[in-house]
Amino acid sequence: MSDCLFCKIIAGEIPSNKVYEDELCLAFYDIDPQAPTHFLVIPKAHIGSVAEVDGDNAAVVAHIFEVIARQTKKLGLDSYRVVSNIGVQAGQSVPHLHFHVLAGRDMTWPPG
Ligand code: AMP
Ligand code: ZN
Repeated sequence: MSDCLFCKIIAGEIPSNKVYEDELCLAFYDIDPQAPTHFLVIPKAHIGSVAEVDGDNAAVVAHIFEVIARQTKKLGLDSYRVVSNIGVQAGQSVPHLHFHVLAGRDMTWPPG
């Protein structure tokens, strides 16, 4: 999608601080971190949010969770939170599927 911020990051048109990249996904540090460690994992194919996951694209979501499990281990994180906001009321500000990975501080429940 030409006017999508995260598609522009994937295309290299906007710089990012990369954690990991492969042919299916990209992980990079959030520009406005909400915890000592805060990175995002996104599919390279444009998917608007979890609400657009279906039988045709669900494999990339499984792959992203595999990447999250591996990269958090590499970073020495044994407790962390994975969050995906869907829609404006839930706080989604970028309409390209992304999973926040947050770690390094006590977390509250329920989330605000
Ligand atoms: P959400 O609000 O759940 O849609 O998450 C979008 C996230 O993208 C926010 O946490 C932003 O801080 C982050 N973000 C926005 N622009 C950039 C950027 N250029 N590089 C890294 N993270 C970004
Ligand atoms: Zn996109």
